[in-house]
Amino acid sequence: MSVCETCTMEEKIYICCARFPQTGEQKTMVLESGAVKKVCPYLTREGTCSIYSTRPDNCQKFFCDRFLLEEGTEGFNSDTPYNLIKALHDNE
Ligand code: SF4
Ligand code: SF4
Repeated sequence: MSVCETCTMEEKIYICCARFPQTGEQKTMVLESGAVKKVCPYLTREGTCSIYSTRPDNCQKFFCDRFLLEEGTEGFNSDTPYNLIKALHDNE
């Protein structure tokens, strides 16, 4: 399971998919909780990206802090400064 699949809609909206990065475009979405939010036009109600395979570079290269912390999950990047420093401490 990828890190992104464990995120709630609220996390996706606040951290990564509130607007289309190329244009700033947004659409209105009513969440299950009843909250009304502005989100990227390509974010689906299920929390997936409807243009995932052709999403812009900004989206493909965006890694939030959760990727630095959740080793063992798809997308985990062992070369980040966090992990390099952690490896040094683990080896002490
Ligand atoms: S990039 Fe981060 S905030 Fe966005 S869906 Fe993935 S794990 Fe969640
Ligand atoms: S294009 Fe897809 S990945 Fe990029 S912000 Fe919109 S929903 Fe998120």
